Amino acid sequence: MAETPAVPHEPYAASRTKALESLLLEKGLLTTEFIDSIVRRYEQDIGPLKGAKVVARAWVDPAFKARLLADGATAILELGLDRGAPLVVLENTPGAHNVVVCTLCSCYPWSVLGLPPTWYKSPPYRSRVVIEPRSVLAEFGLTLPETTEIRVWDSSSDLRYMVLPERPVGTEGMTEEELATLVTRDAMIGVAVVRAPLDGGTVGASA
Ligand code: FE
Repeated sequence: MAETPAVPHEPYAASRTKALESLLLEKGLLTTEFIDSIVRRYEQDIGPLKGAKVVARAWVDPAFKARLLADGATAILELGLDRGAPLVVLENTPGAHNVVVCTLCSCYPWSVLGLPPTWYKSPPYRSRVVIEPRSVLAEFGLTLPETTEIRVWDSSSDLRYMVLPERPVGTEGMTEEELATLVTRDAMIGVAVVRAPLDGGTVGASA
């Protein structure tokens, strides 16, 4: 009689990664702490922080912003970042809000954002954000004016997207470093906007 699996079927890559990890641990080649530290680094340091610096620079330096929008992968080299796959930077404006997805798998701009969050790889996000972006954004707590057009961009292994969020009103006196602390990973994927620190934020200039 066939056994009923106790847990849902894992993707092949995930089972393979687990098998490799347990072998490396068993042979004493790696420690759990080391693996955790690498994952943390990609999630917290290498990841969103890099993108946040790129966004803050674009907010304070119009010439850099122009270069970034023209060729993202080349412009980020100026900040000492690695060149990843071709990177298209999508600028949010009061009239247009951009959201990034990979409908096929989980292509993600790792050179600026590090590791993707779990939800980015989930089938519901990947399928629904294309069909009903407004509802999906609302579930993330982001309600945009009906007049704002929502543009959904499908990443691929050849082309990655990153959103350049709008600089929030009320941040005029902040330095580039201070601005970078406001920029979140979710805002660079497009499921959030950047908020000013004191007033709880304003959605761009359209509010
Ligand atoms: Fe993909």
